[in-house]
Amino acid sequence: MTLTADATTTARDHIALDERWSTHNYHPLPVVLAEAEGAWVTDVDGRRYLDFLAGYSALNFGHRHPDLIAAAHEQLGRLTLTSRAFHHDQFGLFCRELAELTGTDMVLPANSGAEAVESAVKIARKWAYQVKGVPAGTAEIIVAGSNFHGRTTTIISFSTDTVARNDFGPFTPGFKVVPYGDAEALRAAVTDRTAAVLIEPIQGEAGVIVPPADYLPEVRRICDEHSVLFIADEIQSGLARTGDLLALDHSGVRADLYTLGKALGGGIMPVSAVIGRRDVLGLLQPGEHGSTFGGNPLACAIGRAVVKLLATGEFQERSRTLGAYLHSRLRELPGVAEVRGRGLWAGVQIAPGGPTGRVASEALAERGVLCKETQDTTLRVAPPLVITREEIDMGVDAIATVLHP
Ligand SMILES: *Cc1c(COP(=O)(O)O)cnc(C)c1O
Repeated sequence: MTLTADATTTARDHIALDERWSTHNYHPLPVVLAEAEGAWVTDVDGRRYLDFLAGYSALNFGHRHPDLIAAAHEQLGRLTLTSRAFHHDQFGLFCRELAELTGTDMVLPANSGAEAVESAVKIARKWAYQVKGVPAGTAEIIVAGSNFHGRTTTIISFSTDTVARNDFGPFTPGFKVVPYGDAEALRAAVTDRTAAVLIEPIQGEAGVIVPPADYLPEVRRICDEHSVLFIADEIQSGLARTGDLLALDHSGVRADLYTLGKALGGGIMPVSAVIGRRDVLGLLQPGEHGSTFGGNPLACAIGRAVVKLLATGEFQERSRTLGAYLHSRLRELPGVAEVRGRGLWAGVQIAPGGPTGRVASEALAERGVLCKETQDTTLRVAPPLVITREEIDMGVDAIATVLHP
């Protein structure tokens, strides 16, 4: 047992410190965590909670997966950072292994998810000018309503969430928003200047929204017909979360570029990437783009261990079978209007008259289960993929009590 705070510092003290000394851009549940393993986390008072959120899919392999921790420790003892001024012995291997796992040609490593999305936007524009022949400075990227792609100024420029946008303009031009799941609206929005379509195969933040079955294949067809890049943001949906390596795999569709993040860092550190076609990513020349920490040795060593776990297929399989079980149990609950999602990922729509998502999340925490609302009346359930059937039952039983006491 490690002591993580001096004896006089209570959970309330920690929360007060947070409120006094940090910006208030989040509204966390009043739980102060100190330790974790697998699907379980422990707070500063020694109370254990079942993790039903998994860091929004950053913890797909659970907390402190032994293989990932071992890879990190080993790399910490060797080399942590070089900058990209020099080569290092994890970089090329990580890129090759990730490309081979995902069946793509090339990898651009970065850190946060938003950074990967920004990079994909830049590359798509460059491709539009250099390959498609779009007049300089006029390229357009089509995105979907209720999207979530991160928090930078360019990315919030095409958000439809007023809270995320208000007071942060002026905004970056060059984006068009069409309704999610509506292929005809997308087709109508394409012009000669369209560089790319950027969408989430399943919209996470919007409430775990699964589009109609023919939507993603139709997006692919529209992109092919009009020479437009299909960029799939798989930062939350990818890396086994939905029961396949990538969420797009369920539709038998390939994107031209994918953004990955969250679970790529194994729940240890931020690791993201843009992966995809050589004739697109290969356009970047020295000096045109970069990132001091992108593809650093520690990130690559952890990323390689993540790729190795995914290559076994075990996590995809767990997500498929346990996800079917999770969905079937959630669907039976009174107080649930709808359950959306795929694999171990569910948007639980609380029936009218029930608690708000926030109240439900707080009540769940009191019962030892951590998850979080998205939008006002949706609980986002995304447990680590190491969770067991019995643990799923514990979590679902707690949700049942909270939604229908
Ligand atoms: C989380 C997320 C991002 C942003 O990732 P950050 O690491 O928070 O910058 C982008 N796209 C999707 C789909 C996400 O879920």
